[in-house]
Amino acid sequence: MDTVSFVTDLISRAHRSRASDIHIDPQAQAVEIRMRIDGVLHRCATLSNERHAELIAHLKIRASLRTDEHFAAQDGRFTFTASAVPPIDIRLSCMPTYYGENAVLRLFPLETEYQTLASLGMRREHVRSVTEVLANSSGLVLVVGPTGSGKTTTLYTLMELVRTASNSRTILTSIEDPVERPLSGIRQIPAGSHTGISFEQGLRAILRQDPDVIMVGELRDTETARLAIQAALTGHLVLSTLHALDIPTSIPRLTALGIDLHLLGSTLRILIAERLVRTPCDSCGIPRAFGNHPENQFPLAGIQISGDGCASCNMTGYQGRTGVFDIATNDHPSDGVPTAFERPSLLFREAFRKVVEGSTTCEEARRIEYA
Ligand SMILES: [Zn+2]
Repeated sequence: MDTVSFVTDLISRAHRSRASDIHIDPQAQAVEIRMRIDGVLHRCATLSNERHAELIAHLKIRASLRTDEHFAAQDGRFTFTASAVPPIDIRLSCMPTYYGENAVLRLFPLETEYQTLASLGMRREHVRSVTEVLANSSGLVLVVGPTGSGKTTTLYTLMELVRTASNSRTILTSIEDPVERPLSGIRQIPAGSHTGISFEQGLRAILRQDPDVIMVGELRDTETARLAIQAALTGHLVLSTLHALDIPTSIPRLTALGIDLHLLGSTLRILIAERLVRTPCDSCGIPRAFGNHPENQFPLAGIQISGDGCASCNMTGYQGRTGVFDIATNDHPSDGVPTAFERPSLLFREAFRKVVEGSTTCEEARRIEYA
């Protein structure tokens, strides 16, 4: 198979398997190709080392990267189109390694259907709390979690809900690094080294454009966090994400960013902590008893759905993922840190609830407990 067909086949296969990333790593003997599916890496092919240079050169050309540069990190993007799959935005990152350049392709399907909070895995009471908060015209909404916990998808879903509810009567703007998916009806401003616009500069510029609702990809530096709080204080609804483990660690994280805690009580409306867990395979998952095992950390015994693996789940026993949410709302805005945010994390309890419902397994829930 020639390189062009190989790449087309690889990306199409990755898309069909719902992979988020393709990793191409040169090793001593051969080039190893793996895909990340539902957060877990799977080996999918090996290629002889003779074909490595051509493969990397082909990917670089598609992403408009320098093919004569082999000793520097480079990143770019291209849109992949092929029959039988929707267009996919591909972010390519190449890095020099000991055995030669590697490549990581991140896939962003452009025809992703909009999710609802319920389809993300949020339970009814939580959906109601979030919807009530989004009806406010000002304040700060934060989605928190570590990398790969589904924060961005949730943020997009929140923004889409606000857009639908506002019925074109509000100006919605976002600053993102990168813009992961085009959203209709929203001014999306790309930040980052490619564009020369930092989050802080972008946010300042947005505030001069008379926005109502502002989505900030992430509160990752002091100035951006302060501007976001300021905007939330002055009549804007601000939606963003924060890299924190859970609800109790969010306030210390904001303190570390240099936020005046005094202002949080009147601006921060809700903290939505999130994790992703894998869901059991429909084809091989069967009810099984759990509990009463020395290694089992669960307080209860019960029935869970779990699978041993079959052809349709790549022998993993899992297919797809769902979100586990812990949500705290600040119902009585006042000065100081809202007491609602000073409580233990309920993520594990929420995950356990999903085990009982049959939408994940003890094994997956345990990963949250020990995260
Ligand atoms: Zn299966």
